[in-house]
Amino acid sequence: MEAWRRILADSIVKPKDLADRLGVDAKEIEAIVGDYPMRITPTVMATMKEKGDAIWKQVVPDIAEMDDFGAEDDPLEEDLMSPVPHLVHRYPDRVLLMVTNQCPIYCRFCTRKRLVGKPGFLKKGELDQAIAYLREHTEVRDVILSGGDPLLLPDHLLERILKALRTIPHLELIRLGSRVPGTLPERITPELCAIVKKYHPIYMNLHFNHPDELTPAVKAACGMLADAGVPLGAQTVLLKGVNDDPEIMKRLMHQLLLARIKPYYLYQADLTKGTNHFRTTVETGLNIIKSLQGHTSGMAVPHFVIDAPGGGGKIPLLPGDYMVHMDAEGVLLKNYENKAFHYPQPKQESARELPMVSVAPSPGSCSNGAHDDL
Ligand SMILES: *Cc1c(COP(=O)(O)O)cnc(C)c1O
Repeated sequence: MEAWRRILADSIVKPKDLADRLGVDAKEIEAIVGDYPMRITPTVMATMKEKGDAIWKQVVPDIAEMDDFGAEDDPLEEDLMSPVPHLVHRYPDRVLLMVTNQCPIYCRFCTRKRLVGKPGFLKKGELDQAIAYLREHTEVRDVILSGGDPLLLPDHLLERILKALRTIPHLELIRLGSRVPGTLPERITPELCAIVKKYHPIYMNLHFNHPDELTPAVKAACGMLADAGVPLGAQTVLLKGVNDDPEIMKRLMHQLLLARIKPYYLYQADLTKGTNHFRTTVETGLNIIKSLQGHTSGMAVPHFVIDAPGGGGKIPLLPGDYMVHMDAEGVLLKNYENKAFHYPQPKQESARELPMVSVAPSPGSCSNGAHDDL
């Protein structure tokens, strides 16, 4: 058996073992994990410092998970956008392919609680169906392997999937979403890196929520992937009591960059049943973005998005006050210090329609010709 499999097998999955290790009530935990399992890898166990800390909250089952009866199983309506099993096609040119339901840890706030934790990988016939769909849909140029966690697949199955995808001429990008490097770093082996290298361009978006998750071993695993030519991004979920604080979030973003990971998305928590105790206000996320933008490296600022309930996809949000006014003459802008600047529009021959001004400009907008007094 490969070393990482032995280490994964040493994870805490039984309520009694958790009770012995953490002094929680085994009976209570048992009731909660009937619906959605628990797994805590040795790396994550070792990162917990005290009861109820940011790591604990993400993985230790909480009775609050049993509370929100009213909430939906599938608020993003992924199941309605699935043309063939395990494939979600919501956007014009990219799809999500769920290759396993297994994860190294079972996040208590998981969006896919309805699926994740059930046994089994994508079967050969199901892969064939997904490949046939992609071959037919020439508009798809980007596939995201998700789940569950694709890096829990054994090497030969992962390679079978990558190889099959690379037989599709119009498919440009393969992305993987994974929490493995941060929770089971031993899985990132030279053999895995050698496989990945054969099927570039492969991008990975890694899931991290708290700076303590970036241990030296985790950083080393990320470094191996980066050395294998994989551009690394991070996806972070804004979670009450875990990272809903500008200082913690700034430390996380800095730790990610040190691990050669570019922060990509910061997600507002979804409405998934059994996860509502993690939700924060939308203002919390906007304030965090405000506290980062301009105050630290632009590289450290993720896109803050809400995955719209009802299947609307990810919608970006920016603090609303960077653009004060825009007309045909120019835009009035405010920077991170709340100072005002004017950017003149190019002269236009004829009158033209201006786009509706309702959101701030994207980060990196030019402020040439800015001046202080307006
Ligand atoms: C997030 C997501 C994608 C990828 O979105 P990007 O904004 O391109 O990263 C694709 N499909 C589904 C269903 C998604 O949820």
